[in-house]
Formats: sequence, structure tokens, C-alpha cells
Amino acid sequence: MSRAYNFCAGPAILPTEVLQQAREEMLDWRGTGMSVMEMSHRSGEFVAIAKEAERDLRDLAGVSDDYAVLFMQGGASSQFATVPLNLLGDKSSADYINTGIWSKKAIAEASRFADVNVAASSEADGFTTVPDQSVWHTNPDAAYLHYTPNETIGGLEYDFIPESGSVPLVADMSSTILSRPLDISRFGLIYAGAQKNIGPSGLVVVIIRKDLLGQARAQTPTMLNYQVIADNDSMYNTPATYSWYLAGLVFKWLKARGGVQAMGEINRRKADKLYGYIDASDFYANPIEPRFRSWMNVPFTLADDSLNSAFLKGAEERGLLNLKGHRTVGGMRASIYNAMPEDGIDALIDYMQTFEKERA
Ligand SMILES: *Cc1c(COP(=O)(O)O)cnc(C)c1O
Repeated sequence: MSRAYNFCAGPAILPTEVLQQAREEMLDWRGTGMSVMEMSHRSGEFVAIAKEAERDLRDLAGVSDDYAVLFMQGGASSQFATVPLNLLGDKSSADYINTGIWSKKAIAEASRFADVNVAASSEADGFTTVPDQSVWHTNPDAAYLHYTPNETIGGLEYDFIPESGSVPLVADMSSTILSRPLDISRFGLIYAGAQKNIGPSGLVVVIIRKDLLGQARAQTPTMLNYQVIADNDSMYNTPATYSWYLAGLVFKWLKARGGVQAMGEINRRKADKLYGYIDASDFYANPIEPRFRSWMNVPFTLADDSLNSAFLKGAEERGLLNLKGHRTVGGMRASIYNAMPEDGIDALIDYMQTFEKERA
């Protein structure tokens, strides 16, 4: 068996140990004679799997009983509409911070339901920075304040949690959840598509403060109503059972490795090493203001764009996959989520050095 280092932004690399366990349990989950994929979601076995995954996520992330944890479907993108439908309540406007492509998508979708106030934007700076909170024009009467802590495509990450006063803070944590310790109590709602740091695509995890439940607009589709999903333990309809199970295996893997504290230290080391190498080189460059460089997604360019395809071809030959940058940004991007081992960073830097020596 040969496992490549997969630097894809999502669906992303999963821990090898998790996939091995899933393989072992594939045909016969613990003597039931069934795959998890074939189990009724109402069965005792599956309900236990689901509950344990939730418990492990709560332990890992430090989620108190003040919050509901929902395992929904439709990816993070479905939340772009679900959030305003559920949180506007009797208000009409919501604040959004624009720091990149995912912010813009969230803003565009929310604009179909709400008066969106873009309280700050770094678009004029090419999304290479996060606007200082002192210049945000937030509305104290907004239903909520939405931001994107890690812009997966641009590789821009907040190094602070915004202050939102009594306005609930909403975060799209798809590509940064569980990458380090986080004070959940600062947030009204967190959502995260699973395919970066949690598990298979399609599943989206929502962590919502319970007092924010129960104010969905009347026309909200039942399947998008947080209260309905919470009341039914995320089983109003058939949930994404296998993805939920796999997420549970990832949570166990994280716990066994020391949880988010240990992951934070490893992730910082991985990012420092890669950015350190890029900065020391005249051949590779990253445009993001150093303070706001993402620990999870590291875009970089080559001194000469015409070498991009040769770089990618050589990388693939060494089992360094999916380093091509997003089509809207160009260049390269190395996504180095929790499941990317430190060896993968070393292998990437080793290749970058060799390529630079041969081509520069
Ligand atoms: C990947 C990603 C999304 C989109 O997730 P889907 O599950 O494809 O809808 C949204 N926001 C961020 C920050 C992402 O990284």
C-alpha cells in the first residue's frame, strides 16, 4: 500500500489510521454482520455511534451544554442560506466581513434573505490582510455578525476572535475547526463543512447556542430549521450516517493524539516550517501579511509562472498531490490540515528545494 501526501483543499487527506479502521469495520461492524452504511439510523448501534461522535466532538472542542451540536447535510454552502433564515428573527439586517472568496459567497447568498451590511472588506488589498476591527462599521442592531476565520482559497486566517458585543458571532470554520484550541463561548454559531478537518464531504457540523434556536422564518424549509434538527437529534430525516461514523473515527484519532492542544502545536510547527522556507527562498513567495497567514492553507507562487506545470508534474511523481492553486488565484496551494503529517511538510520542502536548484 502506498499513501501519497494529498495537499488537496477539500475533500482532503484523512488520517491513514482512520481509513484502516474503517476498512476493518467495513463488512462487519463489531459483530453485527453489517456495514455501518447498511444500518438503520434508528438502530441502537447507529444511535450509539452518533451519540459517541457528538460526545467526542464536545470533549475535543470544549462545547458546553449551552450549545446544540447538529450533524446536517448540504455542506458549508447550504449554511450560507440556513444561517440568515434561522437567525434573522424579527430583524432585517446582518453584518458580514469580506476577506475572500468564501466570505463573498456567504454574502451573496445571505443577500437573498437579509439586508447585508458588509462592515469591513480587504478586497482593495487583494485579500492579503484582515481589516483591523477598529475600522469595522458594524451595526449594533444587526441580527448577527458573520465572518470566515480561515479563507481556504486565499490562505488568509484571522489571528483574533472578533468582539461583537451582544450581537451573536457566526463563523464559517470549515477549514480551521479543530486545528487548535478555541473559546467556543465567544460564538453564537459555528458551522463547518466536514471535508477539510472532520471527514467526508456533504456533512456539515453546526454548533449553535441554544438561545438562538427557535426563531427560524416561517418559510424556512423544515430540513434547514435548526430547531427541528436539534429536536430530532439530527435525525429528522436519514442523516449522512457513514460520514457521521467516519467523523467519529476522526474525533477519536484526534483525542488519542492529544486533542486540539497538541494539534495546535503540531499545526503551528508545520506552518512555520513551510512559510519559513518560502520566505527564505527568492524563488517562492506568499503574498499574505505574515500575521494573517493561514496554518491550514498555504498558497505560494513560483518566480516564473511558466514553470508551474513542470512543478506540479514533478510533485506528482513524488506522491505530492493536488498542489495546484485554486483556479481564481493561480500558483500553488498546499493544504496542510490536521491529517497531514509533519513528514509531508518535509517531503514538500525537500521537493521545492530540489526544484528550485534545478530550475532557478
Ligand atoms: C470548503 C469551504 C466551503 C464550502 O464547503 P461545501 O461543503 O463544499 O459547501 C465553505 N466555506 C469555507 C471556508 C470552505 O473552506
